[in-house]
Order: sequence, then structure tokens, then C-alpha cells
Amino acid sequence: MSSVRERFLRYVQVETTSCEANECCPSTPGQMILGEMLVSELLAMGVRDARMDAHGYVYGSIPAKGAGQKPAIGLIAHMDTSDAVPGTTRPQVIPAYDGGVIRLQNGTEISGFSFLQQLKGQELIVTSGDSVLGADDKAGVAEIMALCERLLAPDAPDHGKICIGFTPDEEIGRGADLFDVEGFGADFAYTVDGGALGELEYECFNAASCRVTVKGVSIHPGSAKGQMVNASLIAMEFAGMLPSWERPEHTEGYEGFYHLTGMSGNEEAAELRYILRDHDAAKLEEKKATVLAAVAWLNGRYGEGTVTVELKDSYRNMREIVEQYPEILDRAKKAFLDNGIEPSTQPIRGGTDGARLSYMGLPCPNLSTGGYNFHGRKELIPVPAMEKMVDVLASLVC
Ligand SMILES: [Zn+2]
Repeated sequence: MSSVRERFLRYVQVETTSCEANECCPSTPGQMILGEMLVSELLAMGVRDARMDAHGYVYGSIPAKGAGQKPAIGLIAHMDTSDAVPGTTRPQVIPAYDGGVIRLQNGTEISGFSFLQQLKGQELIVTSGDSVLGADDKAGVAEIMALCERLLAPDAPDHGKICIGFTPDEEIGRGADLFDVEGFGADFAYTVDGGALGELEYECFNAASCRVTVKGVSIHPGSAKGQMVNASLIAMEFAGMLPSWERPEHTEGYEGFYHLTGMSGNEEAAELRYILRDHDAAKLEEKKATVLAAVAWLNGRYGEGTVTVELKDSYRNMREIVEQYPEILDRAKKAFLDNGIEPSTQPIRGGTDGARLSYMGLPCPNLSTGGYNFHGRKELIPVPAMEKMVDVLASLVC
């Protein structure tokens, strides 16, 4: 037997940062190393069909036990970690947190977070201060692995078929790209990829990306009068036409936004890259219409073809799909409540693999892992929260 704690500490030490610039899948070789490790551990505990495909997706299943028809339930977590902070994870253990300021090995301090008080007395796993911890989402991986081991013990309770999936490259938005929904074989699934204990999420953004390109006319500034068309200035004009109060830094809850993720330019050519987000599909369409209207207006002023725009849909709010199956959410709520945890549902201000999978025929809300402060050096996870999540997953499938 290997506890969820031991598993977590083992998995986070494998470097699996994904990399957007790499076209291949998985985007980085470390993910394959972790994938192989998980397959051999699954085989060793008795998951006979554990396997990894050529793209680093790990699958396996545990047959139903006991009488009666039960649904086949999928559990999914991602193996890659965010590149928000570079560096190799060296997890540190705080045996019993005193409730005060946490001083990490490199001097970084963790304080001022309202959740810290609730963690007093608990064993915490933190970073050295030089990297992310990778609880997003190796806590999910470790919790699912620990559940498998529990279900394969001779005295395990009855359960339906369990389908396990560990995906690569979630952090760069590709986790669902090559997921084999049919081969996976689940009726529905849950990603275990959320934060604080009790999170149950089934609403995410509708998402689109937008690339605006501006063509200008470059000429020596000394003789530019009446001739030069400065592409960079027109790009700035475009940026100024979008509502500045609808930016990530000014929005929360169900408020959508336009977010400038990159820009480049000179007199001759300029480019702006945006992501557009809204929980409400109609409001996302309005945002696209605003972009198109701004482009049309600028072309009216500077000439047809000066500004061009490319709009692309990325993912959709899974609520539309998941809401058709209230029993999937009820099952998760009951699993939390049975373990003394009040479930909390909040709209995700982002997307998940589950959103894409929901539209690929596998309804898939998201459950907590128990971790905090993902994608940063101050990421941490309490060990009791991981242990509790293994109990919740057991209630979910039994
Ligand atoms: Zn994640």
C-alpha cells in the first residue's frame, strides 16, 4: 500500500511542465516518464488493462464488483503542470502548521490568505519557493491512484466499473484533443482538478481567441506627411475601442472579458492577440460583434483591408451539457455530504478538459483536489484534504 501522501510526493518530483511552443503531444518528454510510472503502478496494483498511448494518455479500468447495474464512472486528472513558474519541484513538508506565516526555503513567505486559519494543526505540503508544487493536478492523480488501490483490496465495497484517465498538456489547452472517449468506456466522468475541498464545478467560460492584424505604410518620417499609415497607432486605436472595464483585472463572477495577451508592431505591420471569455454564449457573441464593428469602423477610416481579424472558438461552457444530467451533480454533492463536506458550486473563470469532453459525449464536471494557490510558488496542499478526497471519490463510485 502506498498512501495518497507518498504518491503525491513521488509524482510531483517528476518534471512535467507542459510547453505551448512545442507542437508535439505530449509537449514535453517528462509527461511520458510520469505516464510510464503510473502505468507500472496501476499494473502492480492489479489494473490489468493499464496502458499509455503514443501521445502520453494513460488509461485503465477496474471492473464492476458485486450485483446490480451501476453506471461506469470515469475519473480524470492531468499529469502536466503549469509553466507559470519555472523550476523543478522540491516539495517540503510542514508536519503541523502553526497557523502563522509560512516561510519557504528560499525566503518566500505565505501569509494573508483567509483559508490559512482553517489549516491550523494540519500537515501541509508546500514548495521550496522556487517552483509550483504541482498539486494542480498531481493531487488529482494521487487521489485517483489511491482510490484504485483501495477498490482493488479484497475487502473493498461493491462498485460499478471505474474508468481511469490521466491526460497530458491540459495547462496548454490540449488535454482533451486526443482523448479516446469511446475506448475510455465511461457513461460520465469527473475531472479531479479543482481547488479547496468541496468544490464542484460545472460552469466554465465560452471561449474564443482573436488575432487582429494591421497593415500600414512605412516611409521616412522626414517625408511622411500625407503618406505614412502607422500600423502600430491603428492597433492602439483598436485596443482603445474595446470597453476597458471588461478586462480580467476588472471582472469577477459571471462577468466576461476581452484580454490582450500579446502585441507586436512597427509602422508597417502590427498585431494584437486577444482572448474573449463569457459564461453566457450570447454575450460572447456580442463581444465578437464589438470586435468586428471596431474593425469595420477602422477600415472605413483608413481604407478597406487595413485591419483584418481572425476569430476562433476555443471551448464552450459545459453547463449546457451537464445540466441535462442532474444525477451526475447530485451524485457528487452526496459524496461530499456523506463525508461531512459542504459542496460549493461556483462558475470557473477558465476552462477544463471536462468542458471539451462534455461536448465530445462524456459529461464531465470538475471536483476539488484540496489544494490552494495553483500556478504559483505559494501553492500548497494539506495532506488531510487529499485523504478526504480519496474518501469522497470512494463514496462517489460505490
Ligand atoms: Zn489543473
